[in-house]
Amino acid sequence: MIQSQVHGRKSKIIAKIADNNAAPEYLTSLIEAGVDVMWLNTAHQGEEEAIGVINTIRSVSDQKMCILLDTKGPETRTKGIEVPFEIKKGDHVIFTGDLAVTGENIIGVDYPNFHHEIPVGELISYDDNSISFIVEEIVSNGIKCVVKNDGLIKSKKSLNVPNVHINLPSLTPKDVGFIHFCAKNNIDFIIHSFVRNVQDLNDIKEILKEYPEYKGKIIAKIENREGFDNRDVILDNCDGLMVARGDLMAEVPLEELPYMQKKMVESTLKKGKYCIVATQVLKNMVKNPSPTRAEVCDVANAVLDGTHGISMSDETAFGDYPLEATNVMHRIMKYTEDKRTELVHFTAEPVSTSPMYIWAKDVVTKAATEHVTAIVTKISLEANKAISAYHPTATVYAGASDIMDFRNMCLGYGLLPVLATTGTATEIKDAVGLGAHEKIMICEEKDGELTYTII
Ligand code: PGA
Repeated sequence: MIQSQVHGRKSKIIAKIADNNAAPEYLTSLIEAGVDVMWLNTAHQGEEEAIGVINTIRSVSDQKMCILLDTKGPETRTKGIEVPFEIKKGDHVIFTGDLAVTGENIIGVDYPNFHHEIPVGELISYDDNSISFIVEEIVSNGIKCVVKNDGLIKSKKSLNVPNVHINLPSLTPKDVGFIHFCAKNNIDFIIHSFVRNVQDLNDIKEILKEYPEYKGKIIAKIENREGFDNRDVILDNCDGLMVARGDLMAEVPLEELPYMQKKMVESTLKKGKYCIVATQVLKNMVKNPSPTRAEVCDVANAVLDGTHGISMSDETAFGDYPLEATNVMHRIMKYTEDKRTELVHFTAEPVSTSPMYIWAKDVVTKAATEHVTAIVTKISLEANKAISAYHPTATVYAGASDIMDFRNMCLGYGLLPVLATTGTATEIKDAVGLGAHEKIMICEEKDGELTYTII
């Protein structure tokens, strides 16, 4: 059973899952608490770990859980730091891509050329800005930096250099392996990290040409200004966008983040594609049983902007209160979407004037004015997504003719997919068992035409 169906919520909850915290009981409890989509990050795991987690997710969800898998992309992380060490404001450290360099206050980086590409005066930010450094001097095999604030240095933490274009290829060899892995294992969405331009997406599509049968989709994870500036053309070449606030706020001045988030949600909705807002949504709940006031409002605002999904990361990957956090997400998202029409708020709509979008807008408008509570469909995936794009007030019981379409729709606002390989929309309605109090609209395709009827 899809949890948003149980919980009556339209926007979707995404949870990051770590391979060392993916016991069947834990995943089941997250699903029961309301998680709709699970996200695996390959920056921290190999194919063997990933397939283990995927098999567990699929077995506890009867194959129905939608899975996002995230490539590492052109990002840099600390590497080879066996013993974490404390640093203080004013200390000096040396960053180096040469992992043979050892000594005190040496910070290894997983990109060998790192220390050749960053000039004196630049800012380096560690672990989503928790510590920052200024480059003072180029030394042999490294760059010497002054530490701007106290902190603890560990391996595998992200590094950002906001003003420098690092010459990393879009796909690392590990990423290439994972793209093949996604196609072979029918992963529902490949989230490509650090998408900066269309070429970054084409690199993936080139590999996927080997798998013409694969139906998985690509979502661009936007984490720097270049990706933000190119978002429209990026969106024309993929299936959706993730607002990756963690890296983004390490890349741009903090005051720009809300503007960029809202513009990205708007651009994505105008294209009729899926949008996900990610990172630190309930950060306080990683260690505490309740959220901050600001977090509650942040989640609600993302819902009001119309995003399809909101993603928890550390909260569910290793947090102390993952079920409580999921419940808090559910309560805020459900309440806010129920109040959406009372609030004067701008939610972007698709700009497409294709017959399918005109029809979908008609469906959603008519359903709202006629107080329809359930829309039951047997139409294409794309037509269902077009209805979702107009933020229907009625719940959409979306007939899916195969499991990949079913899982794809788990991410769509208002879409509650129903697996129905055969059968009409009316048969789906009967199978769903809608109550006598429901006012129902049926959407189907007749003689190649999309139709709707209120019954
Ligand atoms: P990450 O991506 O959790 O993989 O770092 C999300 C982000 O940067 O916001």
